Amino acid sequence: MRSKLVAGNWKMHGGMAQNQDLLGAIVAGTAALRNAGFAVCVPYPYLAQTQTLLRDTPIQWGAQNVSQYDKGAYTGEVSAAMLMDFGCRYAIAGHSERRALYGEDSRTVALKFKATQAAGLIPILCVGETLDQREAGITEQVVAEQLDAIIESAGINALVQSVLAYEPVWAIGTGKTATPSQAQDVHAFIRDRIAAHSPEVAAGLKILYGGSVKANNAEELFAMPDIDGGLIGGASLVADEFIAICRAANN
Ligand code: PEP
Repeated sequence: MRSKLVAGNWKMHGGMAQNQDLLGAIVAGTAALRNAGFAVCVPYPYLAQTQTLLRDTPIQWGAQNVSQYDKGAYTGEVSAAMLMDFGCRYAIAGHSERRALYGEDSRTVALKFKATQAAGLIPILCVGETLDQREAGITEQVVAEQLDAIIESAGINALVQSVLAYEPVWAIGTGKTATPSQAQDVHAFIRDRIAAHSPEVAAGLKILYGGSVKANNAEELFAMPDIDGGLIGGASLVADEFIAICRAANN
């Protein structure tokens, strides 16, 4: 039985005072929830603050991106080892905003995935199709290519120490959520594709759904058999929304 995970992706939002209030509220609001895991992926400058505020709580934290390199002349980059220094558990790899806005292709994402794991972190690997790709009927092909790039580069067993997030690009930040059955179809496709390599890896892998998950749709999404929680953008910035989503995963 896979336990559920809810991870917030703050994107480029936050501020010292605001974070303190938000994290304090999340800690208090999730204190009684024992059946699921919770995490927040914050901007790099707030990792130290997040570590201080969450270190004695069950909530874990992580980054939204990571360099594919260990160290060197890579101005502006942050390595996975540096994230470990701040107690991170997770790093998101291949978020669609990084693929689209910063030109990260599947090869680069695979390198980031491997660098994350090599340092002892758990990558949250994002895959998903654009609206054009969905309308062209190539959702599965797109998701398969994104997934296969990781399997070919890191090997199927690398997925054991990872989390996947299916995030249809057309649903991210748009208020348009995939219906539970649309999401379930793609989650099942992903799990089947992995099962073709290793049924054990597929059975144990957490596959989160991301794309306009809110308090009012989380429960029906999380009720789907292959949806193991959520990667939450906008709603992770609103304490009551995020806590309600965590509660839905805990049920
Ligand atoms: C995300 O940033 O990964 C995301 C799913 O955003 P939102 O929940 O705002 O659609």
